[in-house]
This record gives sequence, C-alpha cells and structure tokens, in this order.
Amino acid sequence: EELNGKKPDWLRVRLPVGESYKQVNELVSKHKLHTICQSGNCPNMGECWGAGTATFMILGNVCTRGCSFCAVQTGRPPEYDTDEPRRVAEAISLMKVKHAVITSVNRDELKDKGAEIWHNTVKFTKELTPSTTIETLIPDTKSNWNALEVMISAGQEVVSHNIETVEKLYKRVRPQARYARSLEQIKRTKEYGKRTKTGIMLGLGETNEEVLKTMDDLVKNGCDILTIGQYMQPTRMHLAVSEYIHPEVFDFYREEGLKRGLKYVESGALVRSSYHAERHVNV
Ligand code: SF4
Ligand code: SF4
Repeated sequence: EELNGKKPDWLRVRLPVGESYKQVNELVSKHKLHTICQSGNCPNMGECWGAGTATFMILGNVCTRGCSFCAVQTGRPPEYDTDEPRRVAEAISLMKVKHAVITSVNRDELKDKGAEIWHNTVKFTKELTPSTTIETLIPDTKSNWNALEVMISAGQEVVSHNIETVEKLYKRVRPQARYARSLEQIKRTKEYGKRTKTGIMLGLGETNEEVLKTMDDLVKNGCDILTIGQYMQPTRMHLAVSEYIHPEVFDFYREEGLKRGLKYVESGALVRSSYHAERHVNV
C-alpha cells in the first residue's frame, strides 16, 4: 500500500501523444477491437502506438479468470464473435503493422478454449498481409493439448505463454493456473516446432533465488525468449506491489538469463510481455 504512493523515477509513465497514436486509437474503436495496451493501462502506449504497434486482445474483454494482478474484467463472457478474426486481420493490414502481437482472455467455458478463433485470426492476418510477422500470447489451455495445437498451427512466428511469477506465488497471483502446467504448455509448444516466449513480473514478493530457479525451469522446458518487468498495481483493488526492483537488478537478470541458456531476454522496469516484441522475432 505504502509503496504505491512513492513510485521511483524510472517508473514515471510516459503519456500517449502524437498523430499516429490518435490514428491507431480511432482504428481500434472503429473495428470494435480490444487492446491490452488500453485494458492493461500499459505505460508504453505512447512509445508503441506512436510507432504503430498495438497488442490486440481477442475473444472479448471479459475473462473467466481473476488473476490478482490483472485489470481485465472477470465474469462470464457474453460473446463468441466469429467475425472478430476478420476485423483483427483488417485492422492489422490498415495499420500497416510489421509485427503484430495478439493475445486473449481465458475462455475456460469454451470446449476448445477459443482455439478456433485464435487459429482464424492468425490465418486471416497472414492471408491479408503475408509480410506481417505475428506473436501470439496464448492463454493456459488447461492441458487441452489438442486446443493448443489448433492455436499455434496457423503460421505465427512466436508463441508466448506467460508464467507471470515464481511457483510459490501462484495461489495468490494466478489462482486458476498451475506452474507445472504452464511449463508443460511451453514445452509442448517447443516440441511442436515453434519459437517460444514467456514473461515474468517482479515485485510481488519473489526472492532472487526463486527468479533464477524459474529461469532454469524455463530453459529446461524449451523456452527461447523471456521478458522481465516490474509489476504495477492497476487499481487499489489489485494485489499490492511489495517491492520496486532497481534497474541494475533488471540488468543482472538479463545477463543471468542469457548465461543460463535463454536466447533473448528483455529486462527492465517498464518491460511488458509485448514490449520490443519486433526485436526478437528471429532469435
Ligand atoms: Fe501495448 Fe505491449 Fe506496447 Fe504496452 S508494451 S503499449 S501492451 S504493445
Ligand atoms: Fe487477466 Fe489473463 Fe488472468 Fe484473464 S487469464 S485475469 S486476462 S491475466
């Protein structure tokens, strides 16, 4: 609680400004799409949207899960919008996005976990703009490996699934997820032949050793790319920040991650899982 009143300098949010930001904003609302940039109040909106990049959130903006760090609304999702893949593909084409990041809420109530809509979104985007590279940040399929295969088999370059935190904190941070299950999902994605990526937030009460252990687990399970960022409390209703990690510690983790066998590590206070995503499409 106390900590949130005094954010260190390096966390000051850069405000979204500029013409291209406005254009992206208009396009997104005209196509009735959702972006994680807006729903998650991401501090990098000025930078990313200014550069014409946005992270689209498909399968609606109501999530069946209630992770304690996340600003997305929890509930029974009202929609199954089969036209969404077409609109996302069109928006990406109109925005002339070079590297698109697509993510989704969890749809635990759907038999296929939303895999069909996932597949079509990537497929239509590739059909409309073949030169656009795609990263899909997919949800926990709850060991539905058939759904996983449908989600990741439409030609995307990178498949991400966020481990979010260390094993000890799962109950508090990701109550409906399981650490080992998420690791297995990454492992199976790698075995399927995809470039794998994950993200972790710091400042939730994890120790140094636990972060390094998580890195080792990720390497063992075939993870290629890791993003590490500072957790920031989206509202007072969400999990409190227990620590602001110093920039030098983020640098330390980047070096450690590479030493331990990750191919690419993006580490810094303002890093979000889609931050600088275009830089590691080809690692
Ligand atoms: Fe959007 Fe990701 Fe950039 Fe944040 S880092 S503004 S979520 S693209
Ligand atoms: Fe947020 Fe994803 Fe958790 Fe849903 S599953 S509450 S969208 S982090």
